Amino acid sequence: MHTKQINLKNYSSFKIGQEEEFALLEDDFSEIDKFYLIGSCNNTLVGTNPPKMMMLSKLYDYIKIEDNCLKIGGATPSGKIASFCKKHDIADFEFVSHLPGKLGGLVYMNAGLKEVEIFNHLIDITTTDGLQKRSEIEYGYRYTNIRKPILEATFHLRYGFDKEKVLQFKKMRANQPSTPSAGSCFKNPKDDYAGRLIEAVGLKGVMQGDMSFSEVHANFLVNHGNGTFEDAIVLIQEAQKKVFKEFHIWLECEIVILDKRFMGEESPLIKRD
Ligand SMILES: Cc1cc2nc3c(=O)[nH]c(=O)nc-3n(C[C@H](O)[C@H](O)[C@H](O)COP(=O)(O)OP(=O)(O)OC[C@H]3O[C@@H](n4cnc5c(N)ncnc54)[C@H](O)[C@@H]3O)c2cc1C
Repeated sequence: MHTKQINLKNYSSFKIGQEEEFALLEDDFSEIDKFYLIGSCNNTLVGTNPPKMMMLSKLYDYIKIEDNCLKIGGATPSGKIASFCKKHDIADFEFVSHLPGKLGGLVYMNAGLKEVEIFNHLIDITTTDGLQKRSEIEYGYRYTNIRKPILEATFHLRYGFDKEKVLQFKKMRANQPSTPSAGSCFKNPKDDYAGRLIEAVGLKGVMQGDMSFSEVHANFLVNHGNGTFEDAIVLIQEAQKKVFKEFHIWLECEIVILDKRFMGEESPLIKRD
């Protein structure tokens, strides 16, 4: 596999991390199980002890209309999808102009804004294991059970790009901080809001090094400049412990944490009985 050096301090939306070597996934899938796949690192916090990582190569950066459907490669950035849909007067993808990520990451996370999510118009995906119809995939709020690299996704094609929707989605973003983050840190628990709970336990705005839960929106963990992985983890664990103690609710991370100490069933970030 070809490789690429990437400085995560520049690449990741958190602006945290060090230079790492990434394997590039092209058309040989024989070694994929040795690596963890990332997209554009807009929902990911990479630690100082990460697993081996890979990303899709440019081969998978495309968007096209075919058989009256929209076919998008897994490495296509959301900005490119938004511009294509605007240019070709395509409906239903207005929200992606405000969702940073690549198509594979958007589908894997079932990313969305309020009731609009990427699965709404999905027909099927192609992973390194082949074609999978939407009906064969388990998915829900910021969740899917996809376990293989998504190379391509096919969506229903409907015409009528709606500029008004772009503005509405932009407005929804107005209460979010512009300081580097990875979007919402925790999933909202059923019938509640992670931001409300973090604020209620007094953690909104509390600094740990250069990291804090934002004053603008408490569920955004933000980096004020020189935040580190360790600072971020301290705040995440603090929020989980305090919210559990006070409300008996375990905040589940929405952000993906890539560090061997915090991954898998042994992770201290998973609820223990
Ligand atoms: C300022 C800001 C605001 C945000 N607001 C929102 C929001 O409103 N709603 C929302 O849903 N999200 C939001 N996010 C999070 C982010 O936009 C989404 O989660 C997006 O889907 C991340 O895509 P990515 O390519 O960066 O994924 P990454 O962070 O690189 O990866 C995330 C996960 O996806 C997996 N993955 C990536 N590519 C593939 C692939 N090709 N095949 C299989 N799995 C893959 C990775 O293994 C990882 O587990 C926000 C982020 C930021 C920085």
